[in-house]
Amino acid sequence: MTYQTLLEACGLSAGQTSSGSLAVTTPVDGSEIARLQTHAPGDVEAMVATAKTAFKAWRDVPAPRRGELVRLLGEELRAAKEDLGRLVALECGKIYQEGLGEVQEMIDICDFAVGLSRQLYGLTIASERPGHSMRETWHPAGPCAVITAFNFPVAPWAWNAALALVCGDPIIWKPSEKTPLTALATQQIFERALDRFGDAPEGLLQVVVGDAATGNVLVESPDVAVVSATGSVRMGRAVGPKVAARFGKLILELGGNNAMIVGPSADLELALRAIVFAAVGTAGQRCTSLRRLIVHEDVYDKLVPRLAEVYAKLPIGDPLADGTLVGPLIDGAAAETMDKALKAAAADGGTVHGGGRALVDTYPDAAYVHPAIVEMPAQTDIVREETFAPILYCMKYRELDEAIAIQNDVSQGLSSCIFTTDLREAERFLSASGSDCGIANVNIGPSGAEIGGAFGGEKDTGGGRESGSDAWKGYMRRATNTINYSNALPLAQGVSFDI
Ligand code: NAD
Repeated sequence: MTYQTLLEACGLSAGQTSSGSLAVTTPVDGSEIARLQTHAPGDVEAMVATAKTAFKAWRDVPAPRRGELVRLLGEELRAAKEDLGRLVALECGKIYQEGLGEVQEMIDICDFAVGLSRQLYGLTIASERPGHSMRETWHPAGPCAVITAFNFPVAPWAWNAALALVCGDPIIWKPSEKTPLTALATQQIFERALDRFGDAPEGLLQVVVGDAATGNVLVESPDVAVVSATGSVRMGRAVGPKVAARFGKLILELGGNNAMIVGPSADLELALRAIVFAAVGTAGQRCTSLRRLIVHEDVYDKLVPRLAEVYAKLPIGDPLADGTLVGPLIDGAAAETMDKALKAAAADGGTVHGGGRALVDTYPDAAYVHPAIVEMPAQTDIVREETFAPILYCMKYRELDEAIAIQNDVSQGLSSCIFTTDLREAERFLSASGSDCGIANVNIGPSGAEIGGAFGGEKDTGGGRESGSDAWKGYMRRATNTINYSNALPLAQGVSFDI
């Protein structure tokens, strides 16, 4: 299948993708695969106005009926899974299997949201006053901007959109300027669901094509009730204060610097498999990628040399080809950042295994790299940074408290895990004084979360939660209702106010 045929299979016509100022390249070989028109600030403002009108109609549609639209979206995604999964691989460079997994995540969250559409529960609360009842009700919040990163071009949109839609909020999506095609293809899929649904208001999903400045129009608009932004800590620092200044609702899903502790009792074979998937999957470009391995000194020499052997044989290549496990980095700049980090780590006393460019002759315009393992004498500044590339820093520890302290001694707080068969160690790691991350796992790597749990992290990761559990509350506003069904007017706290 040629790139052009794939775009067409995803509903993107040559007319739509052949002119404009935004050049879209594929990391597979660095070639240009499309040109797109970008939206001007005025276009974005008009989209916000459309979403505002759509909101007025959509908020009054019963939530289970809104769920029906999401059910249809899930069906359309099932039908489009292979093509969209392939387009994800082509546009962001992750392997096809991971592209399929990303679309499956979209389907899973649709299923979750359909059930949720009948469970947007509030509490009933005991009133202190006779003849009174109290309850809380949840109402749609308003238009929701979803800003997404290049490395997961579609799933995080779905985590937000499926919930926002059943919660009654129209969506304006600003995908990464590096991966707009998957967003436009998803919009086509959504349109098919809308056609089958019938009577939805116009503008439930609008896609903005553009860069950070374009996204900023959404961030600053007082008519955008919820801003859910996924990306770097730098982006969060720019977006967060602006949304806070206008008291908008904010969901931030920012960078991670995720660690695994491997205890002396760990099943090392299990750990090895988990490490390799988490550290080199998506070529180390997941927010949850494993970046730091903290290994007990008694098992370090059994684990790390084996890991280096596995790394040396990893199949690197075209992410669309069968058998490839490591695709390219998104672009040359990412490969340069990786090189710089490896040099800094070596300067800090690290021993580097692997690293450097791969497949340069076959793909001179792409950025394939050899994943790297770096044995570090200590957790230095470069280890504390999130370098968005397949670098795994390995460190030794003696006591569990020391390992937990190393794990927590970074500014990010997304995902973490421990490999151990010792119940005390596992529970200590999960306790209040254990991992300080939003995700803490036992005998499972830090990446590849299921949609049923709330996803997100603490500290510089931004504090947002998306996907399962009660993350839906972020897309709604809460009202507390007190109802007096008596003939008296007793005041709370026994206050006397006779007139
Ligand atoms: P990025 O921050 O460069 O861009 C992310 C998105 O934000 C893009 O759509 C970009 O156009 C937009 N943006 C950037 N600055 C903005 C601004 N000032 N105003 C409005 N919009 C702005 O990130 P990236 O390179 O695309 O993605 C990689 C980063 O994303 C990594 O740090 C990774 O850990 C993080 N990430 C986090 C999660 C998570 O769920 N926690 C998921 C995926 C990626």
